[in-house]
Amino acid sequence: MTDKFSSDFINALKNHDTQTLLSIPKSDVHNHLGRGCRVEWLSEKMNHTFAKPPAVFDGLLGMQDWYVNNIRDYCRAHDSNQTDYRREGCFAEAERNHLARFAPSFSETDIEDYGSLKNFCDYYDSLHKKYCPDAVYEPELAYQSYADIESKLAKAEEYFSSGYFKSIDVCCGEGYKPFSDYIPLYRIAEKYGVLKRMHVGETGTAEEIEEAIETLGLDEIRCWGISNRIEK
Ligand SMILES: [Zn+2]
Repeated sequence: MTDKFSSDFINALKNHDTQTLLSIPKSDVHNHLGRGCRVEWLSEKMNHTFAKPPAVFDGLLGMQDWYVNNIRDYCRAHDSNQTDYRREGCFAEAERNHLARFAPSFSETDIEDYGSLKNFCDYYDSLHKKYCPDAVYEPELAYQSYADIESKLAKAEEYFSSGYFKSIDVCCGEGYKPFSDYIPLYRIAEKYGVLKRMHVGETGTAEEIEEAIETLGLDEIRCWGISNRIEK
C-alpha cells in the first residue's frame, strides 16, 4: 500500500501545523470513550468553564485525579447517563481529528445506561452517522481489571455474540488478580473473533507483559512503556 501521508504528517509535526495534522486521516489506537473528547467542546456544550489542568501532572494518577475531580464528576452531576456529553464529544472529536478508523472503548456501564444492548447500539450508531459517517467504526468493550469476572460472563456472551464489538480490553490497573482469572472472558471474545487487547505494563514488568500475552493469547497490549520497571 502506498504511504500517502507520512511525510506530510512528519513535516506538519515539525512545523507545529495543527490544521494539517488534523486534516490527515488517522487511526485510533487507544481511545477511552469518556476521555476522548476536548474540554473546549464540552465547555461549550455544557456552558461551563472547567478548571485548567496543572502545567505538569503528578504522574498518571495525578492526571486521573484531575480528570475525575474536574471533568468526570461535573459531567455526572450535571448530565444524564443517557446523554453524557463526554461520550458524544468523543464522536465529535473523531470527526475533527479526521479519524479514518475510530475505535472508542466502552464499558459495561455505558451499555447498561441505555437499558438494553439494542438501545445502546442504536444511540451510538446514530452518533457515528451524525458526526463521523466516513470513519470505520470499531467499538471496543473494556472490563475493569478488578471486577469479578465470573459474574460478567453471561453478559459478555450476549455482548460479543452481537458482533457489535470488534475488540476486548481489560483496563484500570494491574496486579489485582492472576492473568489466568481472565481466561474465561477472553475465551468468549476469541469465540466471536474479537481482537484481544489488555492494559498491561503500565505499572508492571516486562515479564508480566510476556505472561499476559502467553496466558491470554493477546493480539495487542496497551502499555506505552511508561513503567520505570520496564527498562530493558
Ligand atoms: Zn488506557
